[in-house]
Amino acid sequence: MAKPTGFMEYKRVENASISPLERIANFKEFHPKLDEDARREQAARCMNCGVPMCGAALKLKGMVTGCPLHNYIPEWNDALYKGQFDMAAWRLLKTSSFPEFTGRVCPALCEKACNCGSPVVGEEAVTVHDNELFIIEKAFATGYMKAEVPKTRSGKKVAVIGSGPSGLAVADWLNRRGHSVTVFEREDRAGGLLMYGIPNMKLEKNIIERRINLMKEEGVEFVFNADVGRSASADHILGEYDAVALCCGAKKARALNAVGIEKLLADGKGAAGGKMLAVDFLTAVTKCVISTSSALEKISMQPTNGQIAQMLKKLYG
Ligand code: SF4
Repeated sequence: MAKPTGFMEYKRVENASISPLERIANFKEFHPKLDEDARREQAARCMNCGVPMCGAALKLKGMVTGCPLHNYIPEWNDALYKGQFDMAAWRLLKTSSFPEFTGRVCPALCEKACNCGSPVVGEEAVTVHDNELFIIEKAFATGYMKAEVPKTRSGKKVAVIGSGPSGLAVADWLNRRGHSVTVFEREDRAGGLLMYGIPNMKLEKNIIERRINLMKEEGVEFVFNADVGRSASADHILGEYDAVALCCGAKKARALNAVGIEKLLADGKGAAGGKMLAVDFLTAVTKCVISTSSALEKISMQPTNGQIAQMLKKLYG
């Protein structure tokens, strides 16, 4: 257990948020992190529950509560509190391939399920999400995170289609097992929605590149601009590889359940018509931010920073 009285001694403190008026000046992340001592105090709040609902992933009324990865949350909270950072990272990485992504963008089902935040205990949930991010960033900063090339290879070749979170996780696990993995991605960079769906201020793109570089060092190969079935031959892949994992499709926009929506989108679909699906807009913005394209400039009705500032002033005073 982290600290038996921690949850009574320390109040929950989350990473701060830079004010909206400041953060619109750029596309950078806007949650400055707590320092090490403050973060360890937050880890001390974990009660190491007999039944840790945070990582249980129980199904209640058809819905999952707690971490779907079954993360060993009390274990790494304990290690974090004690300053055993390598141990914390080791336990965290046992169940989570990419804590640097989930520590930033996961909606933290663990915290919704945390017993500390229940009416019985009467406190606020442990900051599991921010603790996770601290552990993995510490692991990168100290050099704990380094390429681990499999000692032996199985001789089997696997093609992974799509390099979103699922494709990357599949590639990571299969590579660890010694298979030779090639990831095919239709965009010019890996990450899928991580790269071209989640805005830069939520997940800076160099964080994804850092992980991709690590995976490359570990032996995973990436082929970009390969739209399998179109620009890349599916028959060739089926003939060349022992197995194929399909990890694609998340970028397909969900249909809006509104009368006349097809006509609305068909009439001048795209930036020129002033209407875009959000997923296309986010892709365009991110491409602009990382300078692979100037697509953002083509989007009409793009509010200026000044207009956004006025809007936010109205909202927040
Ligand atoms: S439910 Fe909350 S307090 Fe209990 S072990 Fe999980 S994080 Fe710690």
